[in-house]
Amino acid sequence: MAPLIPIGFNVHSRGVRITAFIVILFCQLFIIELLLTADSCSGYYQNKQHQKSGKQQAVKNPPLSEKPEKTEIPAQSDPKPKNPAVPRDEIVWSVPSAGKKVALTFDDGPSKKYTMKYLGLLREKQVRATFFLIGRNVQKNPALTALIAGEGHEIANHTYDHYIKKMSEAVIKDQISRTSNLLKEWTQQEIKYVRPPGGNNSIKMKSVAAELDMQVVMWNVDPQDWNEDTTPAKIITSIKKQLTPGSIIVLHEGKPQTLKALPALIDELRQDGWDFVTVSELLGVS
Ligand SMILES: [Zn+2]
Repeated sequence: MAPLIPIGFNVHSRGVRITAFIVILFCQLFIIELLLTADSCSGYYQNKQHQKSGKQQAVKNPPLSEKPEKTEIPAQSDPKPKNPAVPRDEIVWSVPSAGKKVALTFDDGPSKKYTMKYLGLLREKQVRATFFLIGRNVQKNPALTALIAGEGHEIANHTYDHYIKKMSEAVIKDQISRTSNLLKEWTQQEIKYVRPPGGNNSIKMKSVAAELDMQVVMWNVDPQDWNEDTTPAKIITSIKKQLTPGSIIVLHEGKPQTLKALPALIDELRQDGWDFVTVSELLGVS
């Protein structure tokens, strides 16, 4: 009888070898699988990284079509703001947004008898005002016209003949243009504002002003200083009653009562905290 152990051993040993072979085979397959997985994982990772960096790139450099358009920076050489407190095509009565500022305006000059006195007083008080001059008076007193501008005051247009009632647009245009030409010639200032004589603020006047690229400037404070029965005290009281932030005060050249009222008026308003400016400064366009 053949010994069982050797036979069993042989069978067993063969089985062990087969088993070992299968185990090794599986191990190899497992390792290969692991390696493949690792590769695909790293590929996935790299892909994710790529997508991520792509997103970051996209944030940093948006497609050209999405790039915001360049913001236009206004040229430094243009000192005039584009948005005055009152749009150019609207009549200016006052500029409330200007705060505690006030514009003194003098109509009807220049006057041979009075202009120098007004100028001396304003110089002494360090006040700059706006003068609405009449063309025919400018024609008679060109040197005084130049002097008003030379003293730092603003020059504006009050028509040539100081009369436009019932006149056609063509005549009104001629009245304003002739005066502007004279004023430019004698003051070297750009003439931006026009005030109709007698406050005759008609649609025709507004239309002509727009055509000439000028603005109609009226007033919101009128002490009626032209009235011969008034007094300096009455003028000052009336102005104080009507005054609001950004007011435009209408006064006249050639009136002794106005000249007498001016020093006290300026001092008292200054004490109350008011600043005197030109119409352009009130509008924020100078
Ligand atoms: Zn006038």
